[in-house]
Amino acid sequence: MRPIPNFEEAETYGVTEIKEFTWKQLLDLDACTRCGRCQDNCPAHLSEKPLNPKKVIQDLRAHLFTKGGTLIPTNHQPESEPSPLVGEIISEDTLWSCTACLNCYEQCPVFISGFDKIIDMRRSSVLMESRFPNELKEVFRGMERRGNPWGVEKERGLTGPRTWG
Ligand code: SF4
Ligand code: SF4
Repeated sequence: MRPIPNFEEAETYGVTEIKEFTWKQLLDLDACTRCGRCQDNCPAHLSEKPLNPKKVIQDLRAHLFTKGGTLIPTNHQPESEPSPLVGEIISEDTLWSCTACLNCYEQCPVFISGFDKIIDMRRSSVLMESRFPNELKEVFRGMERRGNPWGVEKERGLTGPRTWG
């Protein structure tokens, strides 16, 4: 997972709109051969969660070209209304079904990762809009207060009993 550059000074986090992906991420969308290996090997898809990595790539690709975007930024990009990806192009359920196993990347014949795009959209949801599943509240609280996702007190170590609050 890529660290967030300039975390303290940054004004935006993650990817809210399609144009915020890097050129490599946009090229990934167009390079997809639609072979389906990512969906056939995604544990979320196989366990009937609402995530299909091939569909994520194809939906983002369709959105890119519907918006009149180009793979390489030019000075002649069309002006358009802001159009958030999460909730409109990619559902929140889809976004949060990814287990971050990276199997889609391992299985892809052209090394496309749906994972990095999903993480960037999650970062936007969490850090720009404070939108995330309820189950993550305790995880974030533990990291904020105790520096670990379990909320374990430092002096007890990770083998001690778990304490919240
Ligand atoms: S990283 Fe996410 S999208 Fe890729 S195979 Fe694993 S669960 Fe599926
Ligand atoms: S495995 Fe790669 S090329 Fe095949 S459908 Fe998935 S993203 Fe596209």
